[in-house]
Amino acid sequence: MAYHGAAFGFGPRARLTVNSPDLNHRFNQPLGGNDMPRFGGIATMMRLPHQQTADGLDACFVGVPFDLGTSNRSGARFGPRQIRAESVLLRPYNMATRAAPFDSLQVADIGDVATNAYNLLDSIERIAAAYERIVANGCRPITLGGDHTIALPILRALRKRHGPVGLVHVDAHADVNDTMFGEKIAHGTPFRRAVEEGLLDCQRVVQIGLRGTGYHADDFDWCRRQGFRVVQAEECWYRSLAPLMREVAERVGGGPVYLSFDIDGLDPSFAPGTGTPEIGGLTVPQALEIIRGVRGLDVVGADVVEVAPPYDPHGTTALLAANLAYEMLCVLPGVVYRERE
Ligand code: MN
Ligand code: MN
Repeated sequence: MAYHGAAFGFGPRARLTVNSPDLNHRFNQPLGGNDMPRFGGIATMMRLPHQQTADGLDACFVGVPFDLGTSNRSGARFGPRQIRAESVLLRPYNMATRAAPFDSLQVADIGDVATNAYNLLDSIERIAAAYERIVANGCRPITLGGDHTIALPILRALRKRHGPVGLVHVDAHADVNDTMFGEKIAHGTPFRRAVEEGLLDCQRVVQIGLRGTGYHADDFDWCRRQGFRVVQAEECWYRSLAPLMREVAERVGGGPVYLSFDIDGLDPSFAPGTGTPEIGGLTVPQALEIIRGVRGLDVVGADVVEVAPPYDPHGTTALLAANLAYEMLCVLPGVVYRERE
């Protein structure tokens, strides 16, 4: 197909012709709406080519259809498929930041991890093994969840390649419970386990958007005792998060960083399709500010988790998640930004 043409460098010619859909691009391109209508074709993420492995890729989209760790509404197992379906409207260039991720990165959709719907612990092992293969050659995975349990095996795989990572964690919940119903591994425990296992560089961890009711008034203080910077939702109300993100980038930079984005960090008015909604959450512009705020850091991977399509009748939550995943791609190292003419 026309998207795998002869390689060429990034001289003036590339700059002049980046918007030409019939150009023989060096890198994979999303299938354009003038080649196949957006409601047609196979719904890979952003209508990118699908390939079986991460070989040769700078970044990939990968789904983890898993929700055995949920505590309330299940359904996040349908997240990857619905996010892909809503991603068909995404075009290659970021009109706000001028990011051109497909001009300099090789990206594909590598499909889903084969989770075991009958066994949480086996699923965790399968996810970790899959991510060890994905990151082995430097590919940076952008994950479509799945419930938040999946952050634990992803961080385990990242630790093997990068050592402890910094973390920007957006969520209504701290996800640092010791146990849930007596279980050590669930969607409310991944970052407690990650600390215990040495997967995180705790001085380079920031949690944003925490709120709601807890079992104890000091629930978030455990995080602070580990060295995390905790930004509760109330600190975010009524304001731009761009200044906060300059401080966050200062704090979490200087090493590999993982971005974990629980969609319930946003207010349920924007993101109703999730399992454990909490009122008083972040706005969509704030979500964009957070993701755009990690540009320039060594982002080694990112996820958007907890999208539960059964509670998302209009597809708005999945549409939002698809856009956030695209924004994550736009801030990966190596992305070019097109200057204004
Ligand atoms: Mn979470
Ligand atoms: Mn949450």
